[in-house]
Amino acid sequence: MKLPSRSKSYMIPEYSLTGDLLSFITCGLQYRYQNKGTLPPSKPVQRWFGEFIHGVMEEAYLDWKYQQKKFPWDWKTDIRPIEDEIDLRLQVRGLYPHDEDLFFSINRPGNTLTLDDLNEHDHKKLASARAENAINIWGKDLFPLIDASELLIKGIRQMPNYNKNISRSNYYGINGVVDVLTSTKINNTHEQSTLYNFDNNIVNFIKKNLDESDIEDYEIIIDYKGMKRPPIKVSKPNAEDKWEHHKQQILTYSWLRSKQEDSKTISAGIILYLNELVPSKEDLVLIKEEIKNDLTDIPQENEFEDDVQLIMEWEEDDKAPNLSDEFKRARSIRFIEINEKEREKALKKFDDVVCNIENSLIQEMKGCKIQDAWKAEADERTCSACDFRTFCKNNTDITKDFKIP
Ligand code: SF4
Repeated sequence: MKLPSRSKSYMIPEYSLTGDLLSFITCGLQYRYQNKGTLPPSKPVQRWFGEFIHGVMEEAYLDWKYQQKKFPWDWKTDIRPIEDEIDLRLQVRGLYPHDEDLFFSINRPGNTLTLDDLNEHDHKKLASARAENAINIWGKDLFPLIDASELLIKGIRQMPNYNKNISRSNYYGINGVVDVLTSTKINNTHEQSTLYNFDNNIVNFIKKNLDESDIEDYEIIIDYKGMKRPPIKVSKPNAEDKWEHHKQQILTYSWLRSKQEDSKTISAGIILYLNELVPSKEDLVLIKEEIKNDLTDIPQENEFEDDVQLIMEWEEDDKAPNLSDEFKRARSIRFIEINEKEREKALKKFDDVVCNIENSLIQEMKGCKIQDAWKAEADERTCSACDFRTFCKNNTDITKDFKIP
């Protein structure tokens, strides 16, 4: 008797919106080494801050929810313990901040210092200053509106260009984590205002941007980004169009969310660019360049004239300009309109990215060399911080590291 052979296992490749798709768009080859080769970056500072600020906002929300702490929060007593906890969690995963970004961690092995040893210089370093502002500027408006946080959303799509002899599967899975979901609570602004005794800047921003007729039964997706507001146009060849990619991310989240049973109509997305609340010197250099070259949407003409003047007169060796809270808030918040046409366009883009990743994978599986199978193309900034730049053929920045005699 002939025994039947076991059928081939059926696996659907799963793609994460940020971990895979946005990472592949930044550079295909870097994505291959870091994600598929599971090599963590050696200097993951950008990643550290992104994860740190997400963790801090999530913990701060839980503290607010269960302890109903009043704003503004004190950095030393209310915020610093959260920072320490998140820092410890990240250390376990091998992610450490630069010394200039965060006050020493109480949790570090061998540490004998306590919070009372804080000095003027150590007090609220860059990451802490951003955490404090994020909580006291946005947290106070955002937390009362939250319906769900860190919400995992998943969906399934047909594999683009499916070919049964070549493709790994006829479908692919797509997943993402929505930082914050808020809904009808925004209609109760009056109640909220009385209850929490404040004028809610996020509600006001939504009402300014959303058609009043849309404000019925709806949801808003909110995403935090541990970065500055990107320019609306890319000025250099190979530069990543972050402005467009962030929009596509929100639109794709909205599609994934619409597939969940308890979802309501998703009316809009909001991105909070948290670095704008306390821009670093590097951020200020870019903001100045973008204003000069008309590459940013904030400020618009004749807007924030005093802040623009301060930025234009600022030089790299000067102290950071004293920008107004209104300017920082306006640059920090972005509205994304959601409609079916835009959503379809974003999903098509992500299908294209998945198609490219799958093609590279299949080529590699067939024996093609890694550097030939994966496209290596990134902007100068990404290349200069890339661990693989010494042997990447396409690194345009390589001459800066190695001078050929
Ligand atoms: S050096 Fe640049 S092009 Fe090469 S892998 Fe790194 S990011 Fe990509």
